[in-house]
Amino acid sequence: MDNLNLYAVLGVTKEATSEEIKKNYRKLAKEFHPDKNPDSGEKFKEISFAYEVLSDPEKRRIYDRYGVKGLQEGAEGFTDTSDFFAQWFPFGGNTSSDPRGGSDGKIMVRLELSLEEMYMGGQQKSVQYKRQKLCGTCNGDGGPKEAQESCEACGGVGRAAAFTFMGLSAFDAVCPACDGRGFTIKDSMRCKPCTGTGFVEQEMTRDVQIEAGVPHMLKLPFANDGHQLRSGEFGDLYVIIVQAEHRVFQRRHANLYMRDLEINITEALCGYTHCFSHLDGRTVCMRTQPGEVLRHNHIKMMRGAGMPVFNKPTEHGDLYVQFKVNMPANNFATPAQLTMLEELLPPREHIAVPPEAEEVQMTDYKPQNRSARPDAADDDDFTGQSPHFEGVQCQTA
Ligand SMILES: [Zn+2]
Ligand SMILES: [Zn+2]
Repeated sequence: MDNLNLYAVLGVTKEATSEEIKKNYRKLAKEFHPDKNPDSGEKFKEISFAYEVLSDPEKRRIYDRYGVKGLQEGAEGFTDTSDFFAQWFPFGGNTSSDPRGGSDGKIMVRLELSLEEMYMGGQQKSVQYKRQKLCGTCNGDGGPKEAQESCEACGGVGRAAAFTFMGLSAFDAVCPACDGRGFTIKDSMRCKPCTGTGFVEQEMTRDVQIEAGVPHMLKLPFANDGHQLRSGEFGDLYVIIVQAEHRVFQRRHANLYMRDLEINITEALCGYTHCFSHLDGRTVCMRTQPGEVLRHNHIKMMRGAGMPVFNKPTEHGDLYVQFKVNMPANNFATPAQLTMLEELLPPREHIAVPPEAEEVQMTDYKPQNRSARPDAADDDDFTGQSPHFEGVQCQTA
């Protein structure tokens, strides 16, 4: 799955419009629907997955930049990747051979919040999702008793051989043909609402109360709101709180980080004031002390100006700001002005060039991409571990 080219799956180019994506998806979904084409289940999953990603601008952006792996890595905290993919597949099914989303009926739903919403708290959000539930018409049997036929695939045992990493192991997976029941329902007598599967889809809505300082990747459990199993029991629903990227702040726990705040050399040397709108809308101003110099990559901390601490909303984390000092352009001053400037600045070292020395030319070096990328902030090691901007110098080769 990792190397799947989602554009190729839908037969579109990387530049495809959302209209083209939708059009091709509809065509392919019809062609490969498991109802018509029982052997194309995997293909259908790929098509559904590709459409889910490419029809969502945010997911498409992540995929374009980091590939399928990026979508998985964004899911830090999920127990495994099949859980992460589960939410995208029809019936919450996962990538394993079990079409019912695992034996525990668990459902994971993402709830994306802005950093402002996480800061403020107090809101109620609702999540919509679908779960499977035993069919009321046939009580989950899929059809009348007399329509039951012993399953040909497993000989009525309900278990099937499965491939494991160690090779073929006998009868340790649920038979996919009969879903472990040992029987199938005669085509002509299948229950209409559930097409003989015994399960129907139920639209669900759950309200989630947002508390101030709620952490990214927090899992909120809702008992018995997951899929219903053949046994009649219900699995649990987990709502995963996910923080949307913010254009100004990065966050780690209750601390906030403002990276590469650009200042010019005059501000760095002569005094600097900066006002910004904080996450709760109030205006916050920072200023240097008289005589204070801000160096390039300098980090300043503002105690208590971070996020509210989860479960202790009267306490706050800190705000860290890292400055980026911009130098003036070439020839910004005349030679006479530079002489005046030099009188103010620390002396430079005077080097006597030996007569036999070779002179070499210095030219501007322009890195091709990575290390100089202005948006490298959100994919290097900074967001992951470093609470104090160590990791800032990009060490990628
Ligand atoms: Zn039914
Ligand atoms: Zn079977």
